[in-house]
Order: sequence, then structure tokens, then C-alpha cells
Amino acid sequence: MKQFLNFINGEFVATSKTFENRAPVDNSVIGLVHEAGQAEVDAAVKAARAALAGDWGQLSVVKRVDMLNAVADEISRRFDEFLEAELADTGKPHSLASHIDIPRGAANFKIFADIIKNAPTESFQMTTPDGGTAISYGVRVPLGVVAVVCPWNLPLLLMTWKVGPALACGNAVIVKPSEETPATATLLGEVMNTVGIPKGVYNVVHGFGPNSAGEFLTRHPDVDGITFTGETRTGEAIMAAAAKGVRPVSFELGGKNAAVVFADADFEKAVAGVTRSAFENCGQVCLGTERVYVQRPIFEKFVNALKEKAEVLKIGPSNEPGVGLGPLISSEHKAKVLSYYAKAKAEGANVVTGGGTPTMSGKYAEGHFVQPTIWTGLPESSPIIREEIFGPCCHIAPFDTEEEAVRLANDTPYGLATSIWTSDLSTATRMANSVHVGLCWINSWFLRDLRTPFGGSKASGIGREGGVHSLEFYTDLRNVMIKI
Ligand code: NAD
Repeated sequence: MKQFLNFINGEFVATSKTFENRAPVDNSVIGLVHEAGQAEVDAAVKAARAALAGDWGQLSVVKRVDMLNAVADEISRRFDEFLEAELADTGKPHSLASHIDIPRGAANFKIFADIIKNAPTESFQMTTPDGGTAISYGVRVPLGVVAVVCPWNLPLLLMTWKVGPALACGNAVIVKPSEETPATATLLGEVMNTVGIPKGVYNVVHGFGPNSAGEFLTRHPDVDGITFTGETRTGEAIMAAAAKGVRPVSFELGGKNAAVVFADADFEKAVAGVTRSAFENCGQVCLGTERVYVQRPIFEKFVNALKEKAEVLKIGPSNEPGVGLGPLISSEHKAKVLSYYAKAKAEGANVVTGGGTPTMSGKYAEGHFVQPTIWTGLPESSPIIREEIFGPCCHIAPFDTEEEAVRLANDTPYGLATSIWTSDLSTATRMANSVHVGLCWINSWFLRDLRTPFGGSKASGIGREGGVHSLEFYTDLRNVMIKI
């Protein structure tokens, strides 16, 4: 049976308490995960602190950059192993993980290696009251020991999105992967050793949230900062833990994202874009669309076109050719999504398509598959429209005016992302200025330039990561003033 061990101070560490890691495609046991207790978390934090005081803390930026590039190259060399591990843990289509998850997992080290090499700081010269001169300049120093708490929907990609900049800035990290997806974070430990990243710089502790590795780590007094991606509710718990010691947090949280389709949009492109944003990764993308607003003249046509796209999506396991929709991550998550499917019906939604589970054959009948689902006809007050479901589903409602579209898009506690579909540049830019989100796509979705800021507004996050913006969290900016 495969064992997923903790990675502490450059070594793989077993514990006496294990839990099963199951495959979403057929619910079979992939292996046993060794849960870290307080002692393992303490050891990982101690190792990280020692690395900062030792070799890693002394390393020049140039050498650090070389090492991060080597990490990226080693992930690429072991591409198939990372891909296989991610597919087993998530069940997502091969086409998706091979195109996005693993390449981006490697790219995250390269981009931040480049950024740190070229990052400037500010400098000012001023006249002093005695007629002399003073010069101030900024120095960026590492934040220190950073806890990285990760979700399961894009395990390697979202973890390296934080570990890449953290290491580029000279920090040491302790990663707590999701209990659902322990594999690629563990595999990355081997990569770190192969390329000679000093012991204690990259650590992994496995386990759950409350009363387990997640809580032990985020409450640990020797952790200097916490970067977290996951549910808003979990963010609130972590923020409370971080309050002790006034430690900084960087949060990428949940969303209830709107797509707004104007009647003048390129119809085919808008339908294709919303098909992706609603159903990609089985709807388990924080940036995904669960609320679609379509201008009334094309409403019926749009609903029918999206229905057609949803109904031809092939549902199945990762390696089956042509599969566009994999399973949900777990039986618990499937139960949650299906409870929303039931609630939508109970609230009187018009079920345009889906609303249940597909019939799967053989061992896949045990998998966590659900149908892609589209609803219309619910009031904006419905939980279906207000709460993040995180499944392959969306509600479509008509709108008449641009003002109404802005009001509907903003009528949510979340503020992560939106996508606007229109051929009028003025409409697009007015909408981009008015919708309260961290990420606004025009005639596109999930298009990313890694140099740009990424993050959510309102209940969708705190801070921005990406490009030089990551330096804001992963470094401490010190001002030095010289009296000449
Ligand atoms: P989650 O919040 O349940 O878990 C995330 C991580 O936090 C896991 O590793 C979990 O073990 C840990 N955790 C849970 N409770 C904890 C606690 N009290 N203390 C410390 N750690 C704790 O989220 P999830 O279900 O893994 O991921 C899905 C969620 O993530 C969705 O809400 C989605 O929108 C969000 N998400 C956001 C972004 C973004 O960029 N904004 C990206 C991906 C996912």
C-alpha cells in the first residue's frame, strides 16, 4: 500500500496515525497518509527556523534563483510522475492536468525566480533641516517561517503559486496540503532533495484542519505568516489563529462569480467561454461561474446553447479519451453538491439540464460523478444564487440594462472574479470599473499572465499575489535612512 509521509528537515517522516487517501473516480484506496501531530509540526517549524539561520539564509539571490530554476526543471523531468499523482488524487481529465496543473506547477518556480532577480526597491533623497542631505532606500528581507495551507482543487498549481514566491524571497515554508490531495506536495519533497535545496527550507505536514496539522501549524507561535487558499469560513478560523502575535495573512478564498453576457457579444465565443467557466474541473475552480446573467434579447438562445454544450460533455475517468468532466473530489463534496441540486428543485427552479448523477459503469459507479446542471427561474435571494456550491452547475437569469447587470453582479458577499462578454469596448471598460472583484475578464476566462496581481475582494480574500505583488506578503520592507 502506498504511504504518503510527512517531509520534515529533508527527510520523510512516518507517524503512527494514518488515514486513507481515496481516488475520486472509483472511491478505491490509493494509499495511507501519515497524519502529523503537534510534535511533527513543531519539528517542521524548528527545521524551517534553522534553515533560515543556516545555509539558506546566507545564500545569494543568484544562487537561490538557480536552485528554483532547477526545481522547475526537475518537476518537468518528472512530469509523468507528477501528472499520475495528480490524476489519482483528483480524478480530473488528463487533458486538463497535463495542460494546466503540472506545467503551471513548474512555471511558478521560474516566474518568481525571474521576478526576484529583477525586483527593484525605492530610494529617496531629501534635504535635512540643517541644510544637509539624507538618502533613504528600501531593503526587502524575508518574512521568515511561512505556513502554506492549501486546497484540493488544483493541488500542485496552487501550492507552488505560494511556495515559489516564498522561496524566491528567501523564506522557509511548511506546507499543509489538503487531506484530499497529499501526493504532489510529498513528491515535491523528493525534488527539493534532488536539486539540493537545503534541509528545512521546504517541509510538508499532512492532516486535517481543526485539531490536526492545519490548526497546529497556523496556531504555532514561531510561524511568521500564513498564506492560505480555501473556503472563506476556514479563512476566518485561520485569521483568528493569526491574530495571536499579530501575524500577517494572505488569503485566496471562495467566490460566487458572475458571468455577464451582453446581446452584442460574439455568441459562439461567449457560449464556449461560459461552458468552460461553469464546468471546467467539474466546477471546482474558485474562479468558476455559478451565476450567469444574459441580456434578454439572447436569453432563450443562450440557455439552449449552453444546455447543448453541457449535454455533450463526456463524463468519465481521467485517461479516457475525450473526457471533459471528471468526478467531484470526495463523497462528502458530492453529497454537498447534490444537496444543492435537491434544494434548487425544492425552491422551484426550472432544471434546464442535469440535476442528478450520471449512470456510470463498472467500478466508476462508485466514483463521485454528478451531472453538469443548469437552472433558470430562481429569485436572487435563493441559496443557489447566494452560496458557493463548487460543482458543475450554474443559474442563468436575464437582465435588461447595464446598470441592472452591475447591480446583479455585485449583489454577493464575494468578490473574486467576473467575466464580461460584449463586443463594445466602452461597455466592457465601464463594467470592469463597476464590478467589485479582484479579477475581471473581458471576452475570456482564466486567462492568466503570472506577472499580474491575483486575489479577491470582499469575502474572497486579503491581499494580492502574482508578479511583484507577491513580494508584498513574502518580504518585509525595511527603510534605511542615511544622514550624509
Ligand atoms: P477548505 O477551506 O476546506 O480547506 C483548505 C485547507 O485548509 C485544507 O488543507 C484544510 O485541511 C485546511 N483547514 C481546514 N480548516 C482549517 C483550520 N481550522 N485551520 C487550519 N487549516 C484548516 O477548502 P477546500 O475545500 O480544500 O477548497 C475549496 C475552497 O477553496 C473553495 O471555497 C474555493 O473557492 C476556494 N479556493 C479559492 C481560490 C482562490 O484563489 N481564491 C483557489 C482555489 C480554491
